[in-house]
Amino acid sequence: MHYLIALGSNQRHPRFGLPRDIIGAAGQRLAAEGLGIAGTSGIITSRPVGPSQRSYANAVVIVETILPPLVLLALLKRIESEFGRRTGQAWSRRVLDLDIILWSGGAYASDTPALTIPHPLMRERGFVLGPAAEIAGDWRDPLSSLTIAQLAARNRHPRKRLEKAPKPLDHGRKRP
Ligand code: ADP
Ligand code: MG
Repeated sequence: MHYLIALGSNQRHPRFGLPRDIIGAAGQRLAAEGLGIAGTSGIITSRPVGPSQRSYANAVVIVETILPPLVLLALLKRIESEFGRRTGQAWSRRVLDLDIILWSGGAYASDTPALTIPHPLMRERGFVLGPAAEIAGDWRDPLSSLTIAQLAARNRHPRKRLEKAPKPLDHGRKRP
């Protein structure tokens, strides 16, 4: 399968350096873990969100792997912690954040551990949609049926913004 993964950083790392260097190192780590890198966006720098101090560096990559979603999520969490991220710090400073945005298998939901694909905030995050439009513009959001390119255009023009996406029909249902 193919996955679209978002990488974000807004903290220095003692070895890897500045956020954009951390993003580069994280991309290399994904490849070193055996994931096929089928596409890499440019790295953008965006203003801090929430109470963070430092700007974020963001990018997306397309990976090809046989790993199912929860196994890939576990791998991403391991890489995050190896890069020094402490848990329980959403919206705060972090060395590395790795999110699964989309995959070739359609909509997916798990409660334990929590995993929702498409990522619930992907439609409103310009720092995801911009880089994603570079390499995955024709990928389709299974919930809204819009392409990444269309979602990115709507995000750049807020007056044309999509109505809140409908909740998936199986929202909250546990998968075996
Ligand atoms: P955020 O990425 O929103 O800043 P975290 O990285 O701390 O916050 O994520 C918190 C939890 O979100 C993760 O432990 C993970 O189980 C869950 N999660 C749900 N959906 C996804 C997804 N699509 N990609 C990554 N994590 C997800
Ligand atoms: Mg995350």
